[in-house]
Amino acid sequence: MRLAVLKERRPAETRVAATPETVKKFIGLGLTVAVEAGAGLTAGVPDAEYAAAGAEVAPDAATTLAGAGIVLKVRAPLGEGPVDELALIPRGALLLGQLQADADTAATYARLGIDAGAMELLPRITRAQSMDILSSQANLAGYRAVIEAAAAFDRGFPMLMTAAGTVPAANVFIMGAGVAGLQAIATARRLGGRVSATDVRPAAKEEIKSLGASFVGHEDEESRAAQTAGGYAKPMSAAFMAEQGKVVAAHLAKQDIVITTALVQGRRAPTLVTAEMVHSMKPGSVIVDIASDAGGNVALTVPGEAVTTPGGVTILGYGNWPGRIPAAASALFARNLLTLLTTFWDKDAKAPKLPEDDDIVKGIMLTRGGAVVHPSFTPAKA
Ligand code: NAD
Repeated sequence: MRLAVLKERRPAETRVAATPETVKKFIGLGLTVAVEAGAGLTAGVPDAEYAAAGAEVAPDAATTLAGAGIVLKVRAPLGEGPVDELALIPRGALLLGQLQADADTAATYARLGIDAGAMELLPRITRAQSMDILSSQANLAGYRAVIEAAAAFDRGFPMLMTAAGTVPAANVFIMGAGVAGLQAIATARRLGGRVSATDVRPAAKEEIKSLGASFVGHEDEESRAAQTAGGYAKPMSAAFMAEQGKVVAAHLAKQDIVITTALVQGRRAPTLVTAEMVHSMKPGSVIVDIASDAGGNVALTVPGEAVTTPGGVTILGYGNWPGRIPAAASALFARNLLTLLTTFWDKDAKAPKLPEDDDIVKGIMLTRGGAVVHPSFTPAKA
């Protein structure tokens, strides 16, 4: 069976869905691998390294996809533009990536006979941890956000005691302490910042403290029940957000660096930092809004851009934070896909075997055999 790795064509997408390391492992499973020329360039992998790993480097998307039984992508294939990737994917192929599908795209995959697996829908169970693209990518996003905040900040993170005097440590506040936020806490602490953090899920408070940061936030009956069975935060009521806002507003005015990471599954990101709160911050302060792709946690975020307010507060609202550290992000994304395929591999047939009753398979598969099978996207619910 042939496995195809396409070049990512979406704007600002720098990652690639397979690395020479995973290509070798796929070949070891009995697959032949085709990688589109230039697929790894923005992630620091030249074509020659894929070729050395045993892949065929194909000149374009059509050649790469011809006869493929498995297609790996970081982001959903394009169905329009100079290369209609969707039209080139063979019927019956298994497509894996961060597909961010809606009912319409799921229906399109079904119509084209593509068996589509949306990796971001993976259930958050222990067995699936090593396949979890949301975690692997969020971890790197949290790291990168702190590094870019430090670069944009006109002072330092650590307290510096020099012969010329003392420079105080930066106050760093992390809003949302999930995977990205916890890595941001750890990174800011390693750089010597004085770190605090907030979240709404009760488990997050202990995790924040265990990393040596202080917890800031409002707690009540609602926050004690703020976690869904899937491990995500629930949308919070306006009353809770108002109480949380009061605590946060007083704290924010004293911060030098703020990293916001808060997401609520399937919804727009909650606004945690109002324009008024931004204006209360000191000139030179830096806010990084990792949630900007989901609408942002900061009222003044301009998606995709860095802006500085008249009061001198810089807000980095770039999208695709994992894509800002593309070699590491690709390496982890590629391993997540490899782990999924090796977990569901039929050694005799040298092909994937995806049991319909498996929780992981049920979680990710949008379509099979020309039909939409995912409960969130079946026509009745769409
Ligand atoms: P996420 O990306 O959905 O959200 C980021 C953080 O924002 C979360 O901690 C969330 O609680 C927080 N948040 C949401 N609304 C907020 C608000 N109004 N104010 C402040 N914070 C708010 O979450 P995530 O990082 O993907 O992970 C959430 C949890 O799932 C974590 O505890 C993580 O450890 C757990 N997890 C478990 C597994 C597994 O068991 N396989 C895998 C990944 C993550």
